[in-house]
Amino acid sequence: MAQFTISVINGDGIGPEVMVEGLKVLHTLGAKCGHTFATSNYLAGGAALDATGVPLPDATVKGVKDSHALLFGAIGGPKWENVAHHLKPEAGLLKLRKELDAWANLRPAMVYDELIDASSLKPEVLRGTDIMVLRELTGGIYFGQPRGIEGTGPQRKGFNTEVYHEFEIERIVRMAFVIARGRRSKVCSVDKANVLESSQVWREVAIRVGKEFPDVALSHMYVDNAAMQLIRDPRQFDVIVTGNIFGDILSDESSQLTGSIGMLASASVGGPVGFFEPIHGSAPDIAGQQKANPLAMIGTLALLLRYGLKLEPEAQLIERTIRQVLKDGLRTGDIKQPGCRILNTREMGEAAVERLKAL
Ligand code: NAD
Repeated sequence: MAQFTISVINGDGIGPEVMVEGLKVLHTLGAKCGHTFATSNYLAGGAALDATGVPLPDATVKGVKDSHALLFGAIGGPKWENVAHHLKPEAGLLKLRKELDAWANLRPAMVYDELIDASSLKPEVLRGTDIMVLRELTGGIYFGQPRGIEGTGPQRKGFNTEVYHEFEIERIVRMAFVIARGRRSKVCSVDKANVLESSQVWREVAIRVGKEFPDVALSHMYVDNAAMQLIRDPRQFDVIVTGNIFGDILSDESSQLTGSIGMLASASVGGPVGFFEPIHGSAPDIAGQQKANPLAMIGTLALLLRYGLKLEPEAQLIERTIRQVLKDGLRTGDIKQPGCRILNTREMGEAAVERLKAL
């Protein structure tokens, strides 16, 4: 039994709709397990710009830093597409990630048997797929110096620098091993060590850290092969750990294995306060219509409980709730299947609450 302070940022578009359902489930869990989740709402994105003139008010940064974890909806939308770059909702999101110093991005991609037909891959390839992609988030080519555009005419060039320090590699690889211990005890480190020096260092550090975890099997794969293997035989993977740009691409690829963006959650951790959000955006095309699937947000709660608050049994309760809803043939429009009942956002949230109470 414990008391936790959770920062809540609804954001824009479907963000507020899915958040309402996520919070219903969180409070139901609190009542069931004897925890108190005290929530504080903060502004970010377009909603913050409209209300305060900036996409990330100082009060949001301070409030989030004073909490145990951040639950985030989604930001952005056509209304703010033409504002100055530094005022864009996305600029607020990037700044918040930086403020929280979240150097590890976790993206689970799990294929539920009930939704196996939702993917474009064959069921026999997908069945049983359960991958955790761990992407380094604050280093690599997206942040390396020097970078820029120089010159004129045919000699004009754009350039970036892929750079990794040992400490950056060591901490994320170590996290991968720790996470693998709670799963199937396999880590695949993805790099391009046959071509890039930064990857050569990455691989050396991965091998060194791996010696601390003799109970976990470590393998290495070049990124081009990993992209292919994810589609050919995704079940071979348990935890994948990789750098920023490779992780950006592979985590999107692995999420597509599961079929719907409305089911997937992510966590950005490493700093003092973890940042937990569905992988989808603000979905302006369906916003305000109660069409959004809240299960990505509810799945996000499981990550917040597991990695943000270290409440493993509670995280598993949330995962069982999602499985039960699907087993009972309940679907939102994005995952509709013949013979299943289609629910709106609120109805799906309420169905999850009822299943959770009954577990
Ligand atoms: P999106 O994820 O918002 O939507 C892509 C498609 O998936 C849309 O057809 C949408 O209706 C559908 N979809 C998304 N979530 C769904 C859900 N929960 N249930 C059912 N269907 C769902 O991506 P986009 O259209 O490229 O971007 C829209 C806006 O969101 C943009 O302004 C973008 O910058 C922003 N965005 C924000 C984040 C974030 O807040 N972390 C992430 C991605 C995009």
